[in-house]
Amino acid sequence: MANLGNPKNTIEVLQKYHFNFQKKYGQNFLIDPHVLDKIIGESGIEKEDMILEIGPGIGTMTQYLAEVAREVVAIEIDKNLIPILEDTLSEYKNITVINQDVLKVDLRKLVMEKNQGRPIKVVANLPYYITTPIIMELLESKLPIESITIMVQKEVAERMQQTPGSKEYGALSLAVQYYAKPEIVANVPPNCFMPRPKVGSAVIRLTLHQNPVIEVEDEEFMFHLIRASFNQRRKTLINGIGNAPNINVGKEEVKAALEEMGLSENIRGEMLSLEEFARLSNLLRKK
Ligand code: SAM
Repeated sequence: MANLGNPKNTIEVLQKYHFNFQKKYGQNFLIDPHVLDKIIGESGIEKEDMILEIGPGIGTMTQYLAEVAREVVAIEIDKNLIPILEDTLSEYKNITVINQDVLKVDLRKLVMEKNQGRPIKVVANLPYYITTPIIMELLESKLPIESITIMVQKEVAERMQQTPGSKEYGALSLAVQYYAKPEIVANVPPNCFMPRPKVGSAVIRLTLHQNPVIEVEDEEFMFHLIRASFNQRRKTLINGIGNAPNINVGKEEVKAALEEMGLSENIRGEMLSLEEFARLSNLLRKK
């Protein structure tokens, strides 16, 4: 099977199978070999690695991955793509395709079976309609993952990298930075895909921290605080947390904790760093 990473070969495959793009699955297939080479280069794959690919489409990037890794497991939700993948990937013995919704797969079991629990790398051109749930699932489930190199909407990639004070800083930035070091490694324009998405894209690499960089006594409580603080962006932190139905902490307690931290009682969540949220969480937890 010819290399799919160009428009001509992709069109041939799509026509052969009378494939119709499904908008609901966020199907925008990569058709630019330079972008594919760049993603493979930036994902730091070594020949002993097991790679998890989410959404292989017609198998374009899967072919590239299978050339450099020991084993590739690709999870694809669209059953119409399965016969196509059987064809386009037929020459590779180191690829397993699973026809499922990635959010319903027992990834821990999969990593155990396919990689004896050793850390894997995730590489994907993600479907944009579920980017955040997929990233949060990969990070929060504490799977053995070394790095996640993904194509996402450009704005989402930027949000992951933001720091306090910027407009785009929010719960996603804090969650990503708690678990990993994010680096945007490429910007990718719409004409590198078929069909063209309406938004710009970027490749971001998340290198997971092997040891926590922030000391927090109760991670879950800290993330409740973070979500409450950004749910009501225009409110002060005291009101955001004080009004949150799922947090049993009064405004006076938040005020006292902020005072102890040397922060103004009018401060908004978007001004607090990850370290400060961790400290606030530890203080409020004690109260
Ligand atoms: N990797 C291919 C490429 O780069 O050309 C396709 C990328 S396309 C942006 C996203 C792919 O994810 C599609 O093939 C789509 O069917 C698949 N997909 C969408 N939702 C999914 C889900 N919940 N689980 C697994 N795959 C999904």
